Amino acid sequence: MFHVKHYDVVVIGGGHAGVEAAAAAARVGARTCLVTLKAGTIGVMSCNPAIGGLGKGHLVREIDALDGLMGRAADMAGIQFRLLNKRKGPAVQGPRTQADRALYRSAIQGMLATINNLTVLEAEVTDLIVEGSRVSGIILADGSSVRATSVILTAGTFLNGLIHIGREVIAGGRMGEKPSCRLADRLVSLGLKTGRLKTGTPPRLDGRTIEWQRLESQPGDDDPTMMSFMNDAPIVRQVSCGITHTNERTHDIVRANLASSAMYGGMIDGVGPRYCPSIEDKVVRFSDKKSHQIFLEPEGLKDDSVYPNGISSSLPRSVQEDYVHSILGLERAKILQPAYAIEYDYFDPRGLSPSLERIEMPGLFFAGQINGTTGYEEAAAQGLVAGMNAGLMSKGMNSFMFHRSDSYIGVMADDLLTQGVTEPYRMFTSRAEYRLHLRADNADQRLTERGRSVGVVRDVRYAAFSEKRCQLAALKDQVAAISLTPKDLGKLNIHVSDDGQRRSGLDILSMSGLETEHLRAALPMLQDADKKLVVQLQRDSIYDRYLGRQQDEVDQLRRQEGTAIPDGMSYVSLPGLSNELKTKLSAIRPPTLAHASRIEGMTPAALALLLANVRKQSLGRAAG
Ligand code: FAD
Repeated sequence: MFHVKHYDVVVIGGGHAGVEAAAAAARVGARTCLVTLKAGTIGVMSCNPAIGGLGKGHLVREIDALDGLMGRAADMAGIQFRLLNKRKGPAVQGPRTQADRALYRSAIQGMLATINNLTVLEAEVTDLIVEGSRVSGIILADGSSVRATSVILTAGTFLNGLIHIGREVIAGGRMGEKPSCRLADRLVSLGLKTGRLKTGTPPRLDGRTIEWQRLESQPGDDDPTMMSFMNDAPIVRQVSCGITHTNERTHDIVRANLASSAMYGGMIDGVGPRYCPSIEDKVVRFSDKKSHQIFLEPEGLKDDSVYPNGISSSLPRSVQEDYVHSILGLERAKILQPAYAIEYDYFDPRGLSPSLERIEMPGLFFAGQINGTTGYEEAAAQGLVAGMNAGLMSKGMNSFMFHRSDSYIGVMADDLLTQGVTEPYRMFTSRAEYRLHLRADNADQRLTERGRSVGVVRDVRYAAFSEKRCQLAALKDQVAAISLTPKDLGKLNIHVSDDGQRRSGLDILSMSGLETEHLRAALPMLQDADKKLVVQLQRDSIYDRYLGRQQDEVDQLRRQEGTAIPDGMSYVSLPGLSNELKTKLSAIRPPTLAHASRIEGMTPAALALLLANVRKQSLGRAAG
């Protein structure tokens, strides 16, 4: 069926990392082969039917700015769009869409089918071809081989995957799919150090058995924000989610059965994601809370299956029935697929180069869940990094570097490479020191031109981007040319201090709380301008004023890295520090700020807070 030969790049795995890796390698012109266990499951969403969210939406926009697949597929499949954190500043707002699973999968498969240079092969990879220390191909389960200049491994949760439902243990890479054990064993025999991580998923419910009329309903935004820069409006029918809550009876059921939970009964070795706690975690860790919110998310337009977001578990099936039936609206809900936890092998990401190549094994790149991350977006972003760079390497071109100052992708890669992981890593805006600049709305301005220079951005995208950039520049010139005195502004009902200073159009655009009609009276060119461009220019104008201050803060933090942290520092009472960091800092007690910065999960915001408190304490001591 498929002709096995020599490729520039071979990608193992058709999950979120694998498809972006294969597509990116092919876009830069590398002859690419994607090998995966089941071609029909390419683009499957293993867990929640949603793309984007806080921090994650930024990653999707960056992937999109480099012409990746995720944003466009999410728009094609999006059945509810919501911009999260709307009440906070635009820098930390996260676009999110709930996706129809079947539409998402077919969108990804459809896009892959149109990419030149890309072949898909359905097979199990069982071994790597290693010559000296260099990886130069793969061996398939039938004994045949495929040679390649570089190989990208994106095996997700499949390496030695073990599914747990209470005391039931099933070998599997995901429900209904076999694990990848031969390849996992081979990687260990090659000397790669593995660890175990775990993650969990909730039961899937039959939507026809949920009493929706008794529940609160949550529609999408009236003015939906798309995931891709290439789209303006939803493509398919939009739906609402339901909202319900756990209650004390639910918690009693969970508490009474903790010993039979795979995660609490000692059946699982791996460490789970702190930020997607299971219902067992919630009941134990937040024992004072009487209720937890559950979003009931339809999994598709032609699918009765519903994803109850917030109650993942590894309790036995019968206990899952009991706790689900204790919840309002779910008393008669039928469980279509039980909740389960999965544990799998991952590899220490500190052994990777910035292009995600294993340092000890040139030619072998790792991307996605196997690097210790969790989430589709984190996986896809790494796939893009590895795919572009493996492709560029095959053409003898320099690597494409992402930096903390230009992208969340750069933040993630740097965090993984320098801090490593002991628990699944997910993206948050607090991880970025340059977050005023790294906005979801300007990802194209930050990355598309650079991507074009190495060929990863194709003509259609580049034409659309260039046109937008021209229009934005023209609008900016027109707005900047306006210059009004406080008196002029007063006549337009815009009241500023009477300091005699003229305000430029950009100053006016960045003022908060102005009525649209007054703004338009001062800046008439906004009337006919594209709304998206106006919003973009407005955000640029607002944030331009703070970028200098942001850079000062970053510089100051770097200069102060040698600052000693007093022995007796009390972290528990520091306001603004997350519980995660309070616990880690109290246990590790770093001697200096530089040591603190290397603690896994440490964020620039938390470091700034530490610095301020160290100073306060030393001032206090000096005064005393
Ligand atoms: P995957 O999507 O797992 O894809 C791996 C691919 O590799 C598959 O296509 C597989 O067929 C292929 N493959 C594996 N071995 C071989 C081989 N030897 N030969 C050929 N092909 C191979 N994320 C969250 O953010 N929050 C959650 O709460 C969450 N819960 C999860 C719960 C469960 C039960 C699971 C399974 C995943 C969960 N995830 C969650 C994680 C999310 O699914 C992953 O982060 C994401 O899918 C990782 O993408 P990936 O491309 O690295 O791997």
